Amino acid sequence: MKVFILVDMEGISGVCLEEHTSAGTPQYEQARRWMTADVNAAVQGALDAGASEVVVLDGHGANSLYNLVYEELHEGAEYILGSPRGWYLTGLDSSFHCMLMVGMHAMAGTPRAVLEHTWSTARWHRCRLNGRETGEIGLMAAFAGSLGVPVTLVTGDQAACDEARQFLGDKVALACVKQGLGRYSAKMLPPRHARAEIRAQASQAVALADAATPFKVETPVSIEVDYIRNSHTDAIPTGPGVELIGPRTIRYTAPTVPEACYLIR
Ligand SMILES: [Zn+2]
Repeated sequence: MKVFILVDMEGISGVCLEEHTSAGTPQYEQARRWMTADVNAAVQGALDAGASEVVVLDGHGANSLYNLVYEELHEGAEYILGSPRGWYLTGLDSSFHCMLMVGMHAMAGTPRAVLEHTWSTARWHRCRLNGRETGEIGLMAAFAGSLGVPVTLVTGDQAACDEARQFLGDKVALACVKQGLGRYSAKMLPPRHARAEIRAQASQAVALADAATPFKVETPVSIEVDYIRNSHTDAIPTGPGVELIGPRTIRYTAPTVPEACYLIR
């Protein structure tokens, strides 16, 4: 049983400040240790449930995609770190039985959601996948789904877990480690409880892998991104599959989700 783990930072236990997720601050140096501990808990949970191979992808865009603390990593997995490395889900292919998402956040605009955004806080206002308002959980689940891999765990705040349930149905295990009070505040589980919950739900997730169905969307695929400023769309060359459909909106169309994602600027 091969298990792929995608890790982001905003939904890690203990994280709620912008400084936690931005390299070069003392808070970031703390938060990357928490991220490593949450990942280690998920790896252990996957191994508890019989995973034979675990690959972890560091997917948070700070510090050149190298946020995990190398010397503290669990010995039962391998880790994809650093950049550039192509697209977001480097290393995932259809030989994996399931993908677990650790440290996720809700889509841009979600109320009481810790560090909510979709893709880029600085450039993206919101995003629709085939006309449906979608955040990173839905986009990445659809990407994995196009390779035939179901997402069976999401960890993060309550809002991220609710979003995962809406998009992925009941065959996904959830580990809620904090309740957002606002974008920069949350009621948190203490670290040991958070990690025990992640470990338990990661086990559950691996057990669900056979029963879960990959998240598939209709093809061809359209991804519409509303950017924040006209200057953001001004900077994007249009062409095949890349259309300006409003002053701040670009529509990307392609035969599959990964191909549509590759077009995104
Ligand atoms: Zn992130």
